[in-house]
Amino acid sequence: MKQYLAALLTLLVIICVGISDARGLFSHQRSPEEDSREVISLQGDGAHNEGSWETSPGDPEETSPREEPAPGPAEGEGGDTPPGGEKKLVEDPTDLLVLVNKEYNLPSDYTPPDLVEPNITFSFSEDLPKRLLRREAAEALEALFGRAAADGIQLAAVSGYRSYDRQKVIFNHRAQERGFEVANRTSAYPGQSEHQTGLAMDVSGSSVGYGLVQSFGETAEGIWLAENAPDFGFIIRYPRGREGETGYSYEPWHLRYVGVEAAREISQRGLILEEYLLEMRAAAEETVAEEGEGPQAVEVDEREHWFAAEQTEDLGLNPSDKG
Ligand SMILES: [Zn+2]
Repeated sequence: MKQYLAALLTLLVIICVGISDARGLFSHQRSPEEDSREVISLQGDGAHNEGSWETSPGDPEETSPREEPAPGPAEGEGGDTPPGGEKKLVEDPTDLLVLVNKEYNLPSDYTPPDLVEPNITFSFSEDLPKRLLRREAAEALEALFGRAAADGIQLAAVSGYRSYDRQKVIFNHRAQERGFEVANRTSAYPGQSEHQTGLAMDVSGSSVGYGLVQSFGETAEGIWLAENAPDFGFIIRYPRGREGETGYSYEPWHLRYVGVEAAREISQRGLILEEYLLEMRAAAEETVAEEGEGPQAVEVDEREHWFAAEQTEDLGLNPSDKG
């Protein structure tokens, strides 16, 4: 009887440990950068980086708070409907200040018009699309890397442009591995990745083995990058302490090109891109409202004039339209 009880107890302990392991496995929240690690491993990148992509136990990335997207539709895995309801498409994906996040999505058929490969150091040797950036961002990144080298800072680019289809493959791969519900909760939907804009590049340094890890932010290279990137038009898009607003954990490696003027203001005032663009829109609306009082009369006159002309044509009174 004693032996039987002991065996039963052992069995119970094994079951409990099993359950807590499984929960640990599924409770880990993934950043969009972890998806890029998957891209990399799926594309067969060098093993050189593979180890460094793993998050070490106790890494802040494991515990930093993140907003979870609401549960999505039951069907259409990795399809065109993102979690959290109806998607809003960005108005102009080619705009250098385009906002892409969990609310504003890129069209599935959008490919940046001017992708080029910057002449910089990469953390991998393969010829892959993730080397690409839009021309203006690529030139700015070359200049940034040039300044870094002059300052004795060794940086390498890890992941740039990523297509909608690539993101979809990653999402579906994850859904196959863990089920749709988990994939939906833990990885970025296609159309919601800034990497599809061709304006984002993940950058890391030698002291963390060119890994995409939060500890990069505390290295000499990470500190240099945060200080100098804005002078070349780049921002650290997902800063520490703003996880609730950006929806993503702190990513000291994710650079987003927005141009020098915007980058300097965003960085100096400690804004996130969402705040900066809201301010810009409010300022633009104010200007329109102010201007509206003056030249309004002229505009109305012009409209009436045009309307009259159109009516004339409709009535067939304009001889030049005939035969
Ligand atoms: Zn990134």
